[in-house]
Amino acid sequence: MDKPRAKDKGPMTPNITELKSKFETFNDIKTTSSLLYWDQATNLPINGGAERARQIATLTKLGHDILVSTDVGLMIADSYDWALNQNKDNEDAAFVREAKRLRDLESRIPGKLSMAMAQHFSAMYDAWAALSPKNDFKSLQPFLEQSVNYSMEIASCFPEYNHPMDALIQFSDPGTTTAVMREIFASLRKELVPLVQKVRNSKQISRNCLQGDFDEASQMRFCRTVAETLGYDFRRGRIDMSPHPFMTRLGGHDVRITTRVRRDDMTDCLFSVIHEVGHALYEMGMRENLSGTILANGVSSGVHESQSRLWENRIGRGKPFWDYFYPILQKEFPTFNHVSADDFLRAINQVEPGLIRVDADELTYNLHVMIRFDLECDVLEGKLKIKDLPEAWNARYESDLGVKVSSLKDGCLQDVHWFSGPFGGSFQGYTIGNMLSAQIYEAALKDMPHMESEFSKGNFYDLRRWLCVKLHQWGSMLRPDELIKHATGEPLSSKAYMAYLNTKYRELYQLS
Ligand code: ZN
Repeated sequence: MDKPRAKDKGPMTPNITELKSKFETFNDIKTTSSLLYWDQATNLPINGGAERARQIATLTKLGHDILVSTDVGLMIADSYDWALNQNKDNEDAAFVREAKRLRDLESRIPGKLSMAMAQHFSAMYDAWAALSPKNDFKSLQPFLEQSVNYSMEIASCFPEYNHPMDALIQFSDPGTTTAVMREIFASLRKELVPLVQKVRNSKQISRNCLQGDFDEASQMRFCRTVAETLGYDFRRGRIDMSPHPFMTRLGGHDVRITTRVRRDDMTDCLFSVIHEVGHALYEMGMRENLSGTILANGVSSGVHESQSRLWENRIGRGKPFWDYFYPILQKEFPTFNHVSADDFLRAINQVEPGLIRVDADELTYNLHVMIRFDLECDVLEGKLKIKDLPEAWNARYESDLGVKVSSLKDGCLQDVHWFSGPFGGSFQGYTIGNMLSAQIYEAALKDMPHMESEFSKGNFYDLRRWLCVKLHQWGSMLRPDELIKHATGEPLSSKAYMAYLNTKYRELYQLS
C-alpha cells in the first residue's frame, strides 16, 4: 500500500538529480561566459575582440540549447506541481521553480537570436571602449541601431506586455513594469526637484579639498583596506582595473570586482570600490548549498543595487564610517591632515548637478536614471531615432539638471549599459536600489540600534550578518517582492528613502 501523502505537501518528492545536473552544466557555461566578459573588460589585447565575441556567442548558444531542450522541459513538468506546494525555504523546490522561470523566458527567444545578440553585444563593447573616448558617436550609431532592432525583436517574443520595455525589464527586475516605474519616477521627481532647488539656493559646499594629485598605488592600498574591513574576502575575490567598474560572480568562491583610478580625484576609485564591494558581499553571502546552482544569483538588479548603494552611500558617505577611516586616509594621504573630518564629510556629500551618473550625488542621481529611462522609452516607442539621441540627451540634461554637455563621452556615450546589452530595461534597477537601500537600512537599525557606533570602531560584521540572514543567503530562492517583504517587513516604498534624503540634506545645507 502507498504511504499516505502529507496533505499540504502535494505529490511525492520527485527525483530531480538529473535536472540539477543539466542546470549545473548550464550554470558552468554561463559563468565561463562571464569569465570571458571579465577578461574582455580587464585584459584582452585590442585585436582580440572579434574572436572573443564569437566565443561568447557559442557559449550562449550551448546554454540556450540546454535550457530549451525537450528533456529539461519534461523533467521540470514532472516536478513543478510538487515544487509549488513546498515551503519557501525548500531549496530543491526553489530550484525547480527557478528552472521553470528561466526556461520559460529562454524558450520564447529563438536560439539564433540569442547567439546573434551575444556576438553583437560583445563586439559593440569593444567598439564603445575604443570609440567613446574619441566622442565618435557616428561610428557607434549603427551598433546602437542594431541593438534597438534586437530589443524590438525580444519585445515581439512577449506580445502579452503593454510596452516593449516591459519585455526587457523582466530580465533584470522581474515583476516590475514600465507603468510602475513611471509612477515611481513621477512621485520621486515631485519631491526631489524642489529639494535640489532648495539646496542650490543655499550656501554652497566646496569639494576643493578632494582634488589634488593622488598616487595610484596609495589609492589602491587604501581601497583594499576599506574593502577588507567591510568584509570583502580576498581569498574569494580580487580587484582589477576596467573602464567601467563592475562585479562578476564566477563561482561561490570567486566573486571579482573592478574599479578605475583618477589621479586628480580619489573619490572616483574609492566609491566605485565600495559600490562593487556591496554587490560582492551579496554574492558572497549566499548559502553554500546554492553554490554552482542557478539559485546562486542576485534576484534582481534592484535588489543588487540596493546592496551596492547601501554600502556606497548610506555607509560610505556617513559619519560613523569616516570616524574610523579618516585617520587611516590621512596616513595614506597627508594632504588631508589640513582638512577637518567635518569638511571632508561635507565635501563627499556635496550636491552638484553634473554630467556623469556614476559620480552623481544622492539627490540628483535619480534624475540621471529618469533621463535614460525616458529616452529608452521614446526610442522603443519609435518617437526618437538613434541618430537624434545625442541632441535629445543634451536637451534633457540642460532642462532637468541645468548642465551643458560639452562632449559626447560625458553625454550619451558615458554608460556601458547601452553598449554591452539590450537597449532598454537596465537603468530602473538603480532607482529601485536607492529606495530599497534606505528601507533595508531602517529595518537593520531597528533590529540593531548599536549598529552605527560599531561602524565607528571599524566593525561592520553585525550589519553584514544581518544582511546575510535577511537577504543574501536566499540567492534567487524568493522572488524580489517576497525577499523585500521578508527583509524589511514591508513592500517596496520610497518612504524611508525620501525621509533619509530630507533629513540628511536639510541638516547638511541647513535648510529651513
Ligand atoms: Zn551597481
